[in-house]
Amino acid sequence: MKIAFLDRDGTINKDYPDKDWKDRTVPEILEGSIEGLLLLRELGYEIIIVTNQYIINEGIITITQYHDFQHNLLKLLKSNNIEILDTFYCPHTDADRCNCKKPKTGLIDIALKKYPNIDLPSSVYIGDSICDQELAFQFELKFFEINGHHFNTYYHSINEVVLTNREFL
Ligand SMILES: [Mg+2]
Ligand SMILES: [Zn+2]
Repeated sequence: MKIAFLDRDGTINKDYPDKDWKDRTVPEILEGSIEGLLLLRELGYEIIIVTNQYIINEGIITITQYHDFQHNLLKLLKSNNIEILDTFYCPHTDADRCNCKKPKTGLIDIALKKYPNIDLPSSVYIGDSICDQELAFQFELKFFEINGHHFNTYYHSINEVVLTNREFL
């Protein structure tokens, strides 16, 4: 199966400066996300979210808060007929020296182990930061950049990315 690997914060939902994540459990969906995700599904992609959540181990949010936010996000997407195949997250800081904090490969390694029928050459990666791009590069995944890393001063949405790159998808 072909996968669209997607970053979460700043790609699907709004991102915030780290300290502003405290107490947040309700995602704000970015403009164009729903339409873009629906298009990816129509094009035959299964969607896997890969997300760095070092704010957990930094103590800014609790693990429960992470799960609440993620649950609400999935519920919101589902109410728009978008099924997400799976989500893999890294709670670690650099000091933890894990293998999964993007751009390290752990999150995609786990996905490949769990879903051996993933076809990487036909899969893609969509994200908004350099760690996403570097991770995609290591698996030779086609990378499409969301230009939303500046807290939405200018936003280039999933929908625009998919519409612009239809011939490559
Ligand atoms: Mg991001
Ligand atoms: Zn990790």
